[in-house]
This record gives sequence, C-alpha cells and structure tokens, in this order.
Amino acid sequence: MSIHEALDTLNPMQREAAVHTEGPLLILAGAGSGKTRVLTHRIAYLMEEKGVNPWNILAITFTNKAANEMRERVNRIAGMGAESVWVSTFHSACVRILRRHIEVLGFSSNFTIYDADDQKTVMKEIFRKFDVNTKIYKERAVLGEISHAKDELITPEELELNAGGDPDARKIAGMYKEYQSILRGNNALDFDDLIMKTVELFQHNPDILDYYQERFRYIMVDEYQDTNTAQFKLVSLLAEKYKNLCVVGDDDQSIYRFRGANIGNILGFEKVFPEAKVVRLEQNYRSTKNILNAANEVIVHNTERKEKTLWTENEEGDKVHFRQFNNGFEEAEYVTGEIMQGRRSGRFQYKDCAVLYRTNAQSRLFEEKFLLANVPYKIVGGVNFYARKEIKDLLSYLKTIDNASDDLAVRRILNVPKRGIGATSIGRVQDYADNMNLSFYDALRVVEEVPSIGRAASKINDFVSFIQGLKSKAEAYTVRETLEEVIELTGYVKELEAEKTEEAQARIENIDELISKTESFQEAMEEAGQPATLSAFLEEIALVADIDSVDPDQDYVLLMTLHSAKGLEFPNVFIVGMEDGVFPGYASIWSGDPSDIEEERRLCYVGITRAMKELTLTCAKQRMIRGETQYNRVSRFVREVPRELVDLGHTIQEKKPRVDDIVSPKSAYAQMKMNFQAKSTLQKKDFTVKKADSLDYGEGDTVRHVKFGVGIVKNIADGGRDYEVTVDFDKVGVKKMFAGFAKLKKI
Ligand code: ATP
Ligand code: MG
Repeated sequence: MSIHEALDTLNPMQREAAVHTEGPLLILAGAGSGKTRVLTHRIAYLMEEKGVNPWNILAITFTNKAANEMRERVNRIAGMGAESVWVSTFHSACVRILRRHIEVLGFSSNFTIYDADDQKTVMKEIFRKFDVNTKIYKERAVLGEISHAKDELITPEELELNAGGDPDARKIAGMYKEYQSILRGNNALDFDDLIMKTVELFQHNPDILDYYQERFRYIMVDEYQDTNTAQFKLVSLLAEKYKNLCVVGDDDQSIYRFRGANIGNILGFEKVFPEAKVVRLEQNYRSTKNILNAANEVIVHNTERKEKTLWTENEEGDKVHFRQFNNGFEEAEYVTGEIMQGRRSGRFQYKDCAVLYRTNAQSRLFEEKFLLANVPYKIVGGVNFYARKEIKDLLSYLKTIDNASDDLAVRRILNVPKRGIGATSIGRVQDYADNMNLSFYDALRVVEEVPSIGRAASKINDFVSFIQGLKSKAEAYTVRETLEEVIELTGYVKELEAEKTEEAQARIENIDELISKTESFQEAMEEAGQPATLSAFLEEIALVADIDSVDPDQDYVLLMTLHSAKGLEFPNVFIVGMEDGVFPGYASIWSGDPSDIEEERRLCYVGITRAMKELTLTCAKQRMIRGETQYNRVSRFVREVPRELVDLGHTIQEKKPRVDDIVSPKSAYAQMKMNFQAKSTLQKKDFTVKKADSLDYGEGDTVRHVKFGVGIVKNIADGGRDYEVTVDFDKVGVKKMFAGFAKLKKI
C-alpha cells in the first residue's frame, strides 16, 4: 500500500494529525478512535513523504507486543526501512541507551536488571541488617515507597531531606539509600532505575543528551496518560531541541495512577508546550453502538475528566449481556459454555474471546473449567513463566556465566545442585566480601583468604572452577549450547527425571520451553543482523512483559487482568466478577477518597471499550475470597449502565434478578448532558452509608486516616447522606472525603 492510499483510509481529523509532523502535538481522544493507528501512519508518512531517516524516529509504546505490532504495520505501509525506527517501550529504550553509556555513572555496561523477586531478596537482607520490625514494615511496602520516589525522580538524599524529623520517613529513606548501594555493588538496576538513571545520564552529560536529541528528531508516545514524572522528564529532555513531540492518550483510560502515573502530564501538556497543536478524535471504529454507549454511560459518572463524546457509525449490535450467578463456579461454567457455543456457531474463534478480571487470582476458576471442557486458553500475567523456580535457577547460571557480579544469582546456584556448602561458610564469604568491597563471586574466587573458612574452601574452589569452565566455553557457544551444557553438567533435568512426579515433569516441560526460547532468540537476532549474545538474551528476558508471549496465530482464549488489556481489542469480551467489593475492590470503596473509585471506573471503561462485537458482564452472589465466603452486591458500574442497553437473558439460576436491583432506571448520560449539577449528586450516590448522628471530631482537630496518615480537619459540610470532611494531611495535602467511609480517628 502506498502512503497516499494509506492516508486515504484515515478520516480528516486523523489525517490532519498524521501529517502534522513539526512541533508539539497532542492527540487527546477516547478509546478506539484510532490513536494508535494515527501514530503508525505518521511514522510511515515521515519516512515516505517527508524523507525523514527512519534512524531519526523514536516511538514509545506500552508493551513490547505493541511495539512489534507497530513496526509490522509501518512496514506494511512504508515497506523496508521500518526496522531502523526505534519502536520500543520506555524500559527497552532506556536499556539500550544505558548499555552504551552507563559507565559514566559508575556502572559497567553488562549490568543486570532485577525483577520483583530479586528486589524482595535485597529488601530482606536490608531488613536483617537494619533489624527492622517486620510487624510494622513489609518488604513490599518499603519497595513500593522506593519505587514511588523513583517515579518522581527523588533520590535517597532528597527523600531524607523531605523526611525532616519524622523517624518513620527517615528510616525508609535510610533503607532506600542502602538498597541503592546494594544494587550498585551488584552492578544491578531495577525497573524504575532504568528510567531514572537515563534521566540522570542526560542531565549530567549534555554531550550525550545532545547526541540523542540529534538522533531522535521525531518522538512519539502512545498511551501517554500513563506516563509518570520520570518518563515525562525523559521525553521532555529528548524533545527539548527540536520539539517534534507527538503524544497520544486518553485521560479516561489513565489506570496506573497507583503506580505513579501522573495525569498532569497529559492535562498539562499545553502548558509545557504552549505552541502545541491539539487534535481530538471522536469517532470510534472499534465497538458496536450499544457497547460504546454503555462505556459512555459509565465513564460520565467520573467528575475528574475532560468532557468528550464518542460516537460510531458501526452497527447497533447486541445489547450488553448481564448475567448473575449463585457463585463463581457457575459463573465460570457459563462463560466457558458461551465461548464454546460461539465457536460452534462459527461466530467466533477462541482467540476472538477474552476474559477480563480485576485481580490475577480470579483466573483459577476459569482455568479449571476451560481444562475440563478442553478449551485452549492462555493466561497473560499471573504466575510468570520466568518467575518459576527451575527457570530462575537456570537463568541464574546464565547470569553468573555472563556477569558474575550479580550476587543474588551466584548465591542462588551455589548449592544447586547440592554442594554441601553450609550457611555459616556462605555468611563468612559474604562478610569478607562486604569488608573488602568485593562482589560475592570475587570473594569466592579468593576463598583461601576468607577467615575461618576451613574445609568449605575446597568445595567453593570446585564451584568456582566449574563456573570458570562454563564461562570459557560460553565464549564460543550459542546461548542454547550454553544452556544445554549447564543442564548436562549440573544434572538438573536428570534429577527431575529421577523424581518421577507430575510436578517434576511440568518443570522439565518448562525447561524445554526455555530451550525453545533460546532457539527463537537466535533466529530473531540473526534475522535482525544482530549478535545473539548471552547478555542480549538475558536482557530480552528481563524485559518481556507477559503479553509479549501471546502468539496471534494460535487459537486460544485469553485471560488477563483489566490492566493488561489496555490498548488491545477483541470481538467477544467477558468482564467477570462485576461485584462491589471485587470490582470496584474493597480498598477503593473503603478508602474514603472518591478518586479511588474514579480510577476503578476508568478501568471499567478500559474493559468495556476492548469489546468490538459482544460484551458480557457477569457476577456471582457469593464468592470465596481468600478462604472466606463473601456476599457482594452487583457492581455499581453495572448499575450505571441504563436498562435499555442491557440484555438480562435467562441465567442458569432459577430466578431472574430483579431489574431494579441491577440497572439504573434512567439514562444517567442523558441526564448528565442536561444538567452538569447532577454530577455531584451522582457521585454521592456511590456512597449509600447513612449519616452518622454526630462525629467525634470537629474543625481544627488532628485526625488520622489509614492511608493518608495524620492531618488537620479544615472543614465539615453536610453532604446530604453523609458529612463531607476536608482534611489537610501532612503527607498528601488536602483531601475531601465522606465521613462514613473515611473512618477518621481523632488523635
Ligand atoms: P485505545 O484507546 O483503546 O488504545 P485507539 O484510539 O488507539 O484505542 P486504535 O487501536 O488505533 O484506537 O483503533 C481502534 C480500531 O479502529 C482498530 O481496529 C483500527 O484499525 C480501527 N480504525 C481506526 N481508525 C480507522 C479508520 N479511519 N477507518 C477504519 N478503521 C479504523
Ligand atoms: Mg491505542
């Protein structure tokens, strides 16, 4: 297809955005309006029509899968050359930059990337060192604080300054500092570091920044609503010189605020780039009228949004199906049955169907039913393949062979297989390494010098020569050969075979899968004309988001969280577990902060707008959660869809649900259009708590909130059903909340 033919497939607004190549451009538009499609055409247009060298283009996508798709599509329009365009995620782009330049920051270029598991191991070590009370602090929570600081580009020193006299905050700042120093010692970075270190690199090295500004004269960012402060800084630095920055996003689909995404980046774009052109797209090409209207009706209940209306010329389609069941088993059975039925009738293939849920744990019941019914499925997320024991063991060998400065990897395999090296000896080596400022592996290499090491020395020497032997072989081997050598010499698979259990068999299959991965890696690198090194392999693995492993040619049902579904589309979508307490989750209902419910509602909007032809919402009256039976109301989000858009069908339970229990009687959307004031009342309807007769605190009192900490009550207003309390919190600033939910305690 020529570029002109390709442009003809765009509507006038889309075309305008695609050909506006110079200067900052913001495409702010709803779901399915062709934002991603515009980006693809824009890249092709830059290359084909404007003669821009593909080398000068950078496009940032949210997943590696999206990056591959975009590259393929550009190729289809522009033909050759697209492989030189950098299409990648923020993280992959930063890894590539850091591999070239990180030495100026004092790391070596073969640094390791730590995953969540590695981070936790490091934090455990810090907790021991700092003698932390694990009843008060949790590793994950401290890691969360550190990650949040990095999203905001806050260094340990700055965090300490911010902490002032607060002993709690000072302690966390201290742990952050220690964490960074351990990572540096291991020549490792975590995911957040990838962004923060790249920003640091650019800020302190104007010549390097200038090189990349020249290199990336045209920059595009998809899913811009979910960028955090650090990512925004990175993009602004790169675009500072030529200002050819095009960002696309939808404020209604911002679903990562809990992870530090800063919606200010999109809402404030025109402030940072006053000369920015803004394009709005309003036609949805993805969904039927009924599905799109349902999405509009739900999202309009949010107060913090830019008003926009999406319309479509697509067919009306089926109504949105809603089914309520007695329990989760029946719900899963129904969904399985519907998918099989849809396939039998020829309407859908398995891969046209997606089951979306709020949390990973919800997948299990569906997996079980799919297995029983022989329905092929694939889980995106959940227990990540690369987090499995056998895979981590073998990858730790590869990491040790590649970069023995990763202490975690070395320690993990020291006794895999058992080498009889005791915990005391390991502790002595670690102490020696700490004292001498050596990596753990380097301390192993000079084990004779470790005080009171005794007879363990010879076992350790055996281990070191084993690794050194593998290292020298690896230089001439392919990744697959190295892996197979490790498996052979450690007897890893032989040991599993000897176990003769089903579990061991499953592990062997996983190892086979890893071998297949090395093979496909080899092929891909050869095709791209790049060296298939062990470092490159480990890097690729460190970066694969789960969605990347989905093969579009295979026919299976996809199961994933609503978060993972962003940017994707499927003909037939099931959103399950539509219950207050599941979706929206309890945490958001009880936090007392209405913006938490709004984030859940945006997630619901993302879910609904994934559907092209059919959408089914399901829920259960009772459900087992963490071993306890819960009885939940139908999700408020279902109740926000007006009755005329919903088909209640015949459920497999005996009784139909009472219509008034489920669907709001009148179109809230229509009401909204007539009266903006209605917004605040609707918002209040979310909270059905009866007003407490009196509050045990008043204006001026100091109170504590579970999430926000300590603050001072500024105002108490009668909000009808409940009091609206305004509190100025030390940590998070002013928040307005409903007293019944906020559960504020006077202190
Ligand atoms: P999301 O907000 O979910 O990321 P989006 O705005 O990026 O959605 P796209 O994924 O680019 O939307 O497009 C949605 C669907 O509509 C795709 O299948 C795309 O091919 C199709 N589409 C977009 N624009 C047009 C058009 N002008 N003509 C025909 N189909 C189109
Ligand atoms: Mg998109």
